[in-house]
Amino acid sequence: MKNQFKNIALIAVFAILITSCSKKNDAPADQEVKTEQNDKVLAYIKSLGFTDGQIVSSGDRYVVDGDMVFDKNMEVPADNGQPKTEQYYNGYLVTAANNIRVKVDPSITSMAAEIDAAILQWNNVPNSKIKFVLTTGSTYDILIKVDNTIGSSTCGQAYLSTSNGKAGSVVWINQELIKNNSFAQRTRTITHEFGHTISFKHTNQSTSIDVPGVGGTDASSLMNGGQCGSGATVLSTKDKQATAALYPL
Ligand SMILES: [Zn+2]
Repeated sequence: MKNQFKNIALIAVFAILITSCSKKNDAPADQEVKTEQNDKVLAYIKSLGFTDGQIVSSGDRYVVDGDMVFDKNMEVPADNGQPKTEQYYNGYLVTAANNIRVKVDPSITSMAAEIDAAILQWNNVPNSKIKFVLTTGSTYDILIKVDNTIGSSTCGQAYLSTSNGKAGSVVWINQELIKNNSFAQRTRTITHEFGHTISFKHTNQSTSIDVPGVGGTDASSLMNGGQCGSGATVLSTKDKQATAALYPL
């Protein structure tokens, strides 16, 4: 009886050893894969012209230059972000549809007027085929929603357009942070984030991909970064020219 108890105890010890061994073996393997994937995404982000200093790791995502979001588990394009072609863009035009369907999440219905005004700005750009359309259906291209946790000084965030021609799929708005801004500035934040979803990067950020035919700096660009609450509230002449250049009729 005593021996049997000893045996059971031994088996238990072995079982624990085996379990902890296999755990130890598993953990580094997982981590390695993750690190490799992270490196790929980091390399991709840098291939778009961003520098280490602009890239912040935040949970499952990288946030670049304040408000452009990349999932750490994103599928990196096979061409590793080499663009097909001073308003800057990420090299990936939205080609899936000229009408980009926007779904307004219930969290942000109180800002419906600002969303309408932001959409109108893009839709009114002369000689551009880009049109945002609101939808209440279950099929949509962009979901706009409130997230008040994206950062104490981050007014909004968005995914950039993707290598397969789709608009960035989510816009997050820090409603708590911008609620005391003017209507025009709240609209600016939304207009700016929609700009990211159709490939625009920050005009005041150096990168290798110029929008064809639109050079130079532009203090009045709505796509200047880091200007929430104080920046341009309407698309500038150059913003419009850049949009028409990327998305001609
Ligand atoms: Zn931005």
